[in-house]
Amino acid sequence: MHLVWHRADLRLHDHPALTAALQQGPVLGVVVLDPLILGATSPRRRAWFYANTQALRTAYAQRGGVLLVRTGSPWEVLPRLANELGAQGIFAVRNSTPYARFRDGQLEKALPGRIRWFGGQYVQEPGTVLKPDGAPYTVFTPYSKRWWQAEQGRVLPAPEHFPALSLPAEIAQGEIPLEEAGVPLPPAGEDSALRVLEGFLRDRLAAYPRARDLLDGSGVSRLSPYFTLGVLSPRLAVHQALQLGGEGAQKWVNELIWRDFSGDLLYHHPRMLEAALDPRWEGLPQTDDPELYGAWLQGQTGIPVVDAGMRELQATGFVSNRARMVLAQFAVKLALIYWRPAERAFRDLLLDGDNASNLQGWQWAGGLGVDAAPYFRVFNLTHQALTHDPGGVWLRKWVPESGGNPEPYKPPVLDLEAARRRYLEAAQRIAKGA
Ligand code: FAD
Repeated sequence: MHLVWHRADLRLHDHPALTAALQQGPVLGVVVLDPLILGATSPRRRAWFYANTQALRTAYAQRGGVLLVRTGSPWEVLPRLANELGAQGIFAVRNSTPYARFRDGQLEKALPGRIRWFGGQYVQEPGTVLKPDGAPYTVFTPYSKRWWQAEQGRVLPAPEHFPALSLPAEIAQGEIPLEEAGVPLPPAGEDSALRVLEGFLRDRLAAYPRARDLLDGSGVSRLSPYFTLGVLSPRLAVHQALQLGGEGAQKWVNELIWRDFSGDLLYHHPRMLEAALDPRWEGLPQTDDPELYGAWLQGQTGIPVVDAGMRELQATGFVSNRARMVLAQFAVKLALIYWRPAERAFRDLLLDGDNASNLQGWQWAGGLGVDAAPYFRVFNLTHQALTHDPGGVWLRKWVPESGGNPEPYKPPVLDLEAARRRYLEAAQRIAKGA
């Protein structure tokens, strides 16, 4: 018997580790509730993780399988479990954040030669899409060109039945905690994710190139909370979109390539967790102003597009990519608030919160060295609202005081024009190396 250890791959379809383990014989699924990760996660994101773990347990049971849940450090819990049950090995989908690499290294030391790793979290594994000379990419467009040339692999079906397994009668399945999310959660589990994907591809893919930038997020798939926990396979999503073809499919797959690119950047540059990818931008002034930070975080800056984005995020755990760019850029470039805690707080509010994509998003929008984003690009916030929220419907929904008008509805926390000049002066000095 083999253990399949699920981490950010809470699904049965297109699961290379599960497929390989089943080729060897009976399989037992396991999820380890790791206090180091869960203790540093917000209630809404823990609740989303638990809901999807529960859905995975149900999916196992429906096919005659079992998913155990244990709590503790994986490198202590899993060797104990493997020895107790006489499991020959552990099969898992590779994760590549700095902590995941440390954790998985500890497990390998504890069970030498008994762990097998597989792809599956990304379409192209971090560290595999390289320049012809073997160097990693830091700019998206050449990365994506190379990405298209790589083999995408076959989408693997979910198992129909798990082979019978004889487990000791006294073995406990392990409790999955219940936690109040404080925000409405999307329906959990891979069947729900596959339905959302199907609906998006059928109804909105064709219009995606035009509708994706709407601030209200009505033109996008809202699949990111599923991708983040691997409830939906990104490879399956790419295959299905490309089968439909057209400009919409190309554009949408391009966004999934950004996801792979984010994973690749953090893999090659773990320092992004703490610092700007381009170290020169560490020289940007940052202020530790709790009032300004609080106004940004609570959606009380007086600037409608910023406040609408933050209030929607606080209330729902989701906000569109356009609003995320506005919120991060406002924080880094205009408010000059200390961006690391802001980035972390932002991630904790997102149901799709993910180290790699969030760091990439912040460092791209903030011009901190990701991609070729020029430092002198500073959004005109009124223009953003007028262009991407026609009629001010989204603004009115989240900031009723604004009446849908993109101009400040109360004295703003910042003089935007002065803030923009202050940023550009500092940025020019840095760019010129002065
Ligand atoms: P769609 O437009 O339908 O795109 C499909 C999928 O492609 C998404 O589900 C996502 O997996 C991926 N994707 C789309 N855009 C990007 C992008 N720019 N970078 C990486 N992947 C992308 N995404 C996260 O999943 N987690 C985060 O923590 C996160 N933080 C962000 C922070 C900032 C400041 C910014 C600018 C972007 C961030 N993103 C993050 C990327 C992007 O905003 C979201 O993935 C997207 O808005 C999710 O909505 P969707 O599923 O409807 O996307």
